[in-house]
Amino acid sequence: MFGTSWRVGRIAGVEVRIDSSWVVIALLITYSMYLRASIVYESLSTGGAVGLAILAAVLFFGSVLVHELAHALVSQARGIRVQDITLFLFGGATRARVESRGPGDEFLIAVVGPLTSAVLAGLFGLVAGVGGGALPRPLAGTFGYLAWVNLLLAGFNLVPGFPLDGGRLLRSVVWQATGSLRRATRVASLAGQAVGWLLVAAGVASLLAGNLAGGIWFAFIGWFLVQAARASYQELQLRDLLRGVEAEDVMAGDLLRVPPELSLQDAVDDYFMRYDHGAFPVDEQGRTIGLLTLRGVRRVPREQWPTRRVRELMVPLGDQVVVAPDARMDGVLGKLEDGEAGRVLVVEDGEVVGIITPSDLTRWLRRWRALDGRAR
Ligand SMILES: [Zn+2]
Repeated sequence: MFGTSWRVGRIAGVEVRIDSSWVVIALLITYSMYLRASIVYESLSTGGAVGLAILAAVLFFGSVLVHELAHALVSQARGIRVQDITLFLFGGATRARVESRGPGDEFLIAVVGPLTSAVLAGLFGLVAGVGGGALPRPLAGTFGYLAWVNLLLAGFNLVPGFPLDGGRLLRSVVWQATGSLRRATRVASLAGQAVGWLLVAAGVASLLAGNLAGGIWFAFIGWFLVQAARASYQELQLRDLLRGVEAEDVMAGDLLRVPPELSLQDAVDDYFMRYDHGAFPVDEQGRTIGLLTLRGVRRVPREQWPTRRVRELMVPLGDQVVVAPDARMDGVLGKLEDGEAGRVLVVEDGEVVGIITPSDLTRWLRRWRALDGRAR
């Protein structure tokens, strides 16, 4: 779901990112706003219609951002850290760690999004209605249109299918009633898949009726919802599984250690090229003093490799994400997702005894599935 994304800024302590998929949708929406402006307001010049379209698109994405900010701020107010807000294909997503908290928090965080969109709809409607006399007709009309769009946004998000806000509301209610997050997520995920398939069916029906653009659009959103609903349940299952597993079961142990006086050239030839690891601990007299990473080596020009030493380039352990061998893997998973380096060091008594990267985890899961399948 999240491909390449760029950081665009920070609002109220929350990082705002834009996913690469969003650029396409931003252009499409601006273009459709332009079509609308040039059809509805025939008196507008091309320049005027383009300007109006850009204003409308900015206000639309601003509305989506405010909706997501509302989720993020309520999360933070409830003491739940928010990773970031990412604008992607169909709007926005707020990434927060809500999983371990109670149904009450989940309800509040979910409900505030559609509420905010409804308030925005009211505000745009007010500007269109009250300012309608003073504003030029195209401008007042655009505000009125944005009021409807925000109302639609509130309505669509209230559809009870995970991961939409309505699905989260449903999950919090089932969670409250049954006391089981797992069952609640299963119900909300199935509801999300059902809603998704309904949208796909509506899309196909509308295609058959000759509405090409609308049909593809509906089918696409439906398909996306089915995938996202399924993925959210699988992620929960993964977390459940990892809760019973410790870091030392998953880590790559038996680490090769690099001496600090080795040249980078030898480190590349004898370690990085020979073994499938992105980092090696640097040891001096049996003590780990740092970490040599492939990423770090790549930053040094190749012609300097024979003369530079590992010691100059290694990163101190203090800058790394560190866990104990008996740390539970569901927590480690969170740290892997958070960290920029994509790597967690397993440290016992100040010694690096293992490294966990996403590929170590994938390898472990593959083995686990193979053995689990045979046991049945
Ligand atoms: Zn929302």
